[in-house]
Amino acid sequence: MESKVTLSLCYTGLISALAAMALTVIAFFGTVQDQVQGDLSVTGDAIAAAYDRGGLTDLSVYGEDLLRVTLVSPDGRVLYDTDAQAGALENHLSRPEIAQAISEGTGRAARASATLGRQDFYYARMLGDGNILRVSAPATTLPLMLGSASPGLLGSFVILLGLAVCLAAIGTRRIMKPVKDLPAALEDPAAPADSRRVYPELAPLVREVQTLRGTRQQMRQEFTANVSHELKTPLTTISGYAEMIETGLAREEDIPRFAGEIRREASRLLNLIADIIRLSQLDESAGQEIQREPVELLSLARECERTLEPEAARRGISLAVRGTEYTLSGNRTQLWELVYNLTENAIKYNRDNGSVVIEVGPGRLSVKDTGIGIPKEHQSRIFERFYRVDRSHSRATGGTGLGLSIVKHVAEAHNAKITVQSTVNVGTEITVEFEPPPGA
Ligand code: ADP
Repeated sequence: MESKVTLSLCYTGLISALAAMALTVIAFFGTVQDQVQGDLSVTGDAIAAAYDRGGLTDLSVYGEDLLRVTLVSPDGRVLYDTDAQAGALENHLSRPEIAQAISEGTGRAARASATLGRQDFYYARMLGDGNILRVSAPATTLPLMLGSASPGLLGSFVILLGLAVCLAAIGTRRIMKPVKDLPAALEDPAAPADSRRVYPELAPLVREVQTLRGTRQQMRQEFTANVSHELKTPLTTISGYAEMIETGLAREEDIPRFAGEIRREASRLLNLIADIIRLSQLDESAGQEIQREPVELLSLARECERTLEPEAARRGISLAVRGTEYTLSGNRTQLWELVYNLTENAIKYNRDNGSVVIEVGPGRLSVKDTGIGIPKEHQSRIFERFYRVDRSHSRATGGTGLGLSIVKHVAEAHNAKITVQSTVNVGTEITVEFEPPPGA
């Protein structure tokens, strides 16, 4: 962006400078021409005055340098010319400056000269005896003037170029400063978005980012608070039971039960830690493109089925996979976690001897159970971290409240949409719809 700004400032500066130079040359050229024409008429008038007073008999005294003097009779014959033999010259009546002098008293004209690259200026004046006096002098043309001025112009151009580059660099630094300061302004929540450090056009962006950061910060704080609470609960239980055994407060026959509680809480703790670590890994890579590979969902579902089969069998729940093969480009590990978590929930929140069906179709996967169902008002919140409809049920089944958060994360990373259909005491069906691959 910086080099773009510098370049466009350079261009703007140079183009303006060149335009100014061109206009100056043209204006200067006009002035020079006016000057030549003015000088010529002064000279012409002076010679005419001397001629009329009768004090001038020999016009040849003026024929020096570049000035040319011609005397023309009222019928157009050339009576005298300082540059040529008068008799050899053609009739001058048709020359515009002569014609104008005859009708108006004085006449002016400019014509291309015999000398290349020059033009002649003419001034004619009616004399007292009826003859016409004409003076003429060559003047420079625009290309000729440009040619002779080119070293100077080139020098000015180089200076202007240097100046444009320097000013563009300084200008760029000034323009870019608030943009470069943006990260600092975003970092500092105390700095208001409409402070002088920020361009007004960027203020909405700064506010948006600050709000987003604030929300994220708050969510992080909430998550940390939740994590420590979730970790404390099983640890308190564990240390409570352990203390009772240690102090001999527990009766002999209670000890196996307490040991079982300790083991369950410990395994819950392990699950919790695993889920927390997994979620923070997913959080860290959020927004980044996942590593993709072709993943076939039907066989993936069968793998999950095999893994969870013992758990389902313990409660007499039938587990089935149906549908057709469907291959998508995705992250195999993440998709496995998605199917596993949904199926595990379908078993955990099922009734004894219920059933679970994983169905795979084109661009979709659904897990349907015959369980306790999710009341309508909870359906939109179950994907929140640590959210559980029934805390004690979730605890009893070793739930962490994070399974569906992981599912949601994975779905988002795969641009998939999740829908929940559930009726209390009838069952739940959670469907994941994947975006069709590009070009499909
Ligand atoms: P948990 O570890 O508690 O199962 P999840 O994030 O996986 O955490 O699920 C959040 C909550 O959603 C669960 O506590 C449960 O109340 C509800 N839930 C999830 N899946 C189902 C289901 N198949 N049937 C009924 N309720 C479910």
